Amino acid sequence: MEFDAKEEIKNKLDVVDVVSSYIQLQKAGTNYRACCPFHNEKTPSFYVSPQRQIWKCFGCNRSGDIFTFVMNIENVDFITALKILADKAGVKLPQFDHKLESQNKIIYNIFSDIIQLYQNNLNQDIKDYLIKRGLTEEIIKEFRLGFSNDEWNQGLNYLINKGYVIKDLIETGLFIKKNETNNTSVSNNYYDRFRSRIMFPIYNTSNEPIAFTGRIFEGKNKLQTIKNIDESGKYVNS
Ligand code: ZN
Repeated sequence: MEFDAKEEIKNKLDVVDVVSSYIQLQKAGTNYRACCPFHNEKTPSFYVSPQRQIWKCFGCNRSGDIFTFVMNIENVDFITALKILADKAGVKLPQFDHKLESQNKIIYNIFSDIIQLYQNNLNQDIKDYLIKRGLTEEIIKEFRLGFSNDEWNQGLNYLINKGYVIKDLIETGLFIKKNETNNTSVSNNYYDRFRSRIMFPIYNTSNEPIAFTGRIFEGKNKLQTIKNIDESGKYVNS
């Protein structure tokens, strides 16, 4: 439903009007340009295309539509940008499903927290390996790459200690239910899907982490929780 509202707002607002309510635009052929509001520059490399209803900066490479522009310039999340632009467009937003919204928020928080754990797990061996494959320290940091240890329950225990409940944790797809379960402790019935893997977070368009791709990393020691790499897959997605 939020997407219908998004389309309606997009139809009613012109990217040129939205952007020029924040910064001064100059006409440049069929486009408009300005000094980029998102990085420091003296010659304009920020362009707005009325035809495509997008903006792009060739200096810092940021780009997007009216929603990402407002998110960036107001420094707000997507929902807030949606509200700001709905106001401008005179579009009445449907009542948000707060339950769904807060459930999603929990999932994002879980991903953010476990990304931090994975980042802390990243040791020099793995960094060297990534750098050898063409990545840089900067990219590793910016995309928040990490490592899931060769352990059955590190991620699960870490998140349970942070106070998350198992019902929310299993919704992330990060944990697998054991075939044989016991009822003494719910957390004993699950184990980490990602073990001994380099973790690449996947983000949605609002830059919230929603999944992982995990690539197996063997290192020097024999793997403890993975018997057969071919069976468990070189790459795993959540
Ligand atoms: Zn820029």
